[in-house]
This record gives sequence, C-alpha cells and structure tokens, in this order.
Amino acid sequence: MTLFERIIARQIPADILYEDESVVAIRDINPQAPVHLLVVPKRPIPRIGEALPEDQAVLGHLLLKAGEVARSLGLDQTGFRLVINHGRDGGETVPHLHCHLLGGRPLGWPPG
Ligand code: 5GP
Repeated sequence: MTLFERIIARQIPADILYEDESVVAIRDINPQAPVHLLVVPKRPIPRIGEALPEDQAVLGHLLLKAGEVARSLGLDQTGFRLVINHGRDGGETVPHLHCHLLGGRPLGWPPG
C-alpha cells in the first residue's frame, strides 16, 4: 500500500478536508504555503507520466475538485497554484500521484 492509500484507509492520521468516491484532499504534513493541500486519487496511479487512457475521468475529476476545494477556501479570490511532481527532477517523493494545491501567499515563478 502507498502512504496515501494508508491515509485513505485511516491507518495513518491526516487532516482530510474533502473526500468522495474517487479522490481525497488532505493537508500536507510539511506545508510550503499557508494553504498546502494534496488532492489524491484513491486508486493509485504512480505518477502522471504513467497515467493511462482509463485514468482520464479520475484525472479530470481530480482537477475539478482541486478547483472546488480552492474556491471553498476563498483562494479563487487571491490565486493559487496546482503542482504535480514527476520523478527525480520534478521532486516527487511519494509514488502515488497527487496534485499539490498551494495558496495563501504570493508564489514565486519560476519555481526553484
Ligand atoms: P511530492 O514530493 O511527491 O510531490 O509530494 C509528497 C508530499 O507528501 C510532500 O509535500 C510531503 O510533505 C507530503 N507528505 C509526506 N508524508 C506525509 C504524511 O505522512 N502525511 C501528509 N499529510 N503528507 C505527507
């Protein structure tokens, strides 16, 4: 089981802000911004570059829900960023696809 599957199964505690049949949104344990959530598909896809055509619906749902969660927190007013890290150079550390939702402060560009 991946780390996020264990969180989804309530084997590891996490602050779960949103959950439905196919995704969860949890607070990142090491936040990089005042709001730092992870939107995670319940069925693990290792990383975005390995997603398959049959993952299309869940990936669309993930982005839709990321936007809705951001809106529910008022971040649509100030702005926010969605980030998906793939592999070593992308900074991926957990091999279960997740979309970072960052906001609550101005975010630099380009990223480090
Ligand atoms: P990645 O580096 O793979 O893009 O993102 C993994 C994220 O998972 C990191 O931002 C890291 O802080 C977060 N993370 C790692 N372990 C845990 C944990 O046990 N609980 C929560 N809520 N987040 C975690």
